[in-house]
Amino acid sequence: MAEKLKVATTSLAGCFGCHMSFLDIDERLLALCEVAAFDRSPLTDIKQCSEQVDIGLVEGGLCNAENVHTLREFRNHCKILVAVGACAINGGIPAMRNHIPLEECLEEAYLDAVGVVNPQIPSDPELPLLLNKVHPIHEVVKVDYVLPGCPPSADVFWKFLTDLAAGREPQLPTELVHYD
Ligand code: SF4
Repeated sequence: MAEKLKVATTSLAGCFGCHMSFLDIDERLLALCEVAAFDRSPLTDIKQCSEQVDIGLVEGGLCNAENVHTLREFRNHCKILVAVGACAINGGIPAMRNHIPLEECLEEAYLDAVGVVNPQIPSDPELPLLLNKVHPIHEVVKVDYVLPGCPPSADVFWKFLTDLAAGREPQLPTELVHYD
């Protein structure tokens, strides 16, 4: 019996919409599990990758130092790394803050919020350090494939992973490729 493809997923500065879209493959998940085994992922609740996995899917871009650390470590464990969705590919919605100084964003969110008692900007040293700008993941690690969309549809995940599991170069039909 052919060895199953080892797949890991992680979420950085994203909204989990890409993971939700992946789950929209619905009952095809059972067929996928025949050819793929899920390693580290919010879907399995496994927190650390095995020594080496075949495919790593990354949702979300980089908005803080912890994202950068997580991404570098994830890349080290993945033979093939895939940027999934607009946030991973170009920063997406979180990168809309890049046009505004970080200090102004924090003041707007925490000090100017209406109805908050004793407003203050969180400064606990355990909180990950925010980056001045939100970055796409290709600025920090090598990316092998991108799955565009916000989010990519379930059919994109299905086609991409089943192509790889069958040993084919992934080919997405034009009608599946969209950027919204
Ligand atoms: Fe959410 Fe869209 Fe970003 Fe995916 S690409 S994490 S759906 S905002």
